[in-house]
Order: sequence, then C-alpha cells, then structure tokens
Amino acid sequence: MALVEIKNLHKSFGGNHVLRGIDFTVEQGEVVCVIGPSGSGKSTLLRCVNLLEVPQEGQVFVRGEEITDPDVHLDAARAGIGMVFQQFNLFPHLNVLKNCTVAQTTVLRRKPEEADKVARANLERVGLSEKVEAFPAQLSGGQQQRVAIARALSMDPALMLFDEPTSALDPELVGDVLTVMRKLALEGMTMLVVTHEMAFAREVADRVVFMDGGVIVEQGPPAEVIGNPREERTKLFLRRVL
Ligand code: ADP
Ligand code: MG
Repeated sequence: MALVEIKNLHKSFGGNHVLRGIDFTVEQGEVVCVIGPSGSGKSTLLRCVNLLEVPQEGQVFVRGEEITDPDVHLDAARAGIGMVFQQFNLFPHLNVLKNCTVAQTTVLRRKPEEADKVARANLERVGLSEKVEAFPAQLSGGQQQRVAIARALSMDPALMLFDEPTSALDPELVGDVLTVMRKLALEGMTMLVVTHEMAFAREVADRVVFMDGGVIVEQGPPAEVIGNPREERTKLFLRRVL
C-alpha cells in the first residue's frame, strides 16, 4: 500500500482551476521533490494532502484511509502528517521547547514529561539542544525553521510535507536546513518536498515531479527529470532555474 495515494484531484478557487486532475502516489520511505513554476499549484497540492484545502473532486488516501471522506476524523488524520512551511509559523510567545510540546499534549494527549522528552530528542536531532529556552525572535531564520521541523517531528508523523522550507532564508542559512532534511531522508522518513533547490532534489529525491498549469507534466528519477527531461515545458523551466 502506498503511504499517500492521490486520485484525480481537482481544486479551484472561484473560476481559477488550479489542480486539473492530479494522480500521484508516495511510497513508504520515499523522498519526492515537486518542482515547477510559481502558480503551478504545488502548494495547493501539498495543502490538499493534509486537507488545509478541500478539493472539489478526487480522493486523497493516507495509509489507506481516505482523508477526503467527509466523515473522517480530521485531527487524527492530520496528526500523522507533519508540515513545514516557507514561513516558519512558530508560536512567538512560546519558547522553543514549548513550541515543540504544545501539540503533543493537546492533540496526542501525551503527558507533559513525555512531550518534553520527545521534544528535546527532536531538538537534538536538528542540532538545537542549546536553544530550548530561547524564544523564536531570538533565533535566526534557519534556526527557527529547524525548530519548526523538530516540532513537526515531535508528532511522530508518518509523512513530512515541506513547502519551500528554505525560500525565506538568507542564503548562508539554507545549508543547515537542507542538512537536517538530508539526514531525515537518510533515516527513512517519507517526505514530499516542494523546492527550488535543484541540487538538493538531484541528490536527495528518489523521484522528482514537475508540475505546470495544475498538472503533472513528467516525473521520474532526478537524473531523468532534471538531468535529461523529456518534455519541452520541463526543459524551459529548468533553463530558467539552473
Ligand atoms: P505554487 O505553490 O506552485 O506557486 P499555488 O498552489 O500557491 O502555486 O497557487 C496556484 C494558484 O492558486 C495561483 O493562481 C494562486 O493565486 C491560487 N491560489 C492559491 N491559494 C489560493 C487561495 N487560498 N485563494 C485563492 N486563490 C488561491
Ligand atoms: Mg507555493
């Protein structure tokens, strides 16, 4: 069974038909990078996977459970999916540790001591053990994004979604975040990553998906899609970003 299965997904905002029939799977342990021009529907696709957007047509299955079923228990379905955004979205009034424990205690109903232990372990994983007491405003963008990753990991997700996690960072801070993501991939985390970091996609992705105009134009191993694309639209896009 695929970890994520998307069937014939359509999403419109008013008259803007953004996703035009997406079929797509992510296998357990797979790292899939989604690339494509701005406005092609990459973020919308990601947001449909955890129902931050509700599609008009089509189905999304996560671990065999249809999360687009109107009767599904949303919190339970979402708890298995971690999401990291371009803007880190940390809680500014909570310190780093608390940022990583609050959803554990409220959504997963973990005891505070357990949540604390899990949070500390994940902050160590992203190299921020020293910053548990700090507040978001005291951290660099790269550190804040690593807190956001630790926070998501603390929910023990089966799947991690990343939406351009390094796009808001100063160039010298991008590397630390990519290093953490590379490590997660090596540990076997299933990841769906929207990114403009072609070197990262080339090195880390098992599969690259190129989207344009709300459809998947081509997908395959990075050496093919980035290294030797078949479709004219892919070639055009890569010529602009590489
Ligand atoms: P990408 O991430 O590839 O840049 P998006 O999925 O963000 O593309 O956006 C695709 C299209 O959907 C754009 O035309 C955008 O303006 C539109 N769109 C995205 N989110 C919304 C929304 N919440 N309301 C209205 N239009 C939206
Ligand atoms: Mg986007």
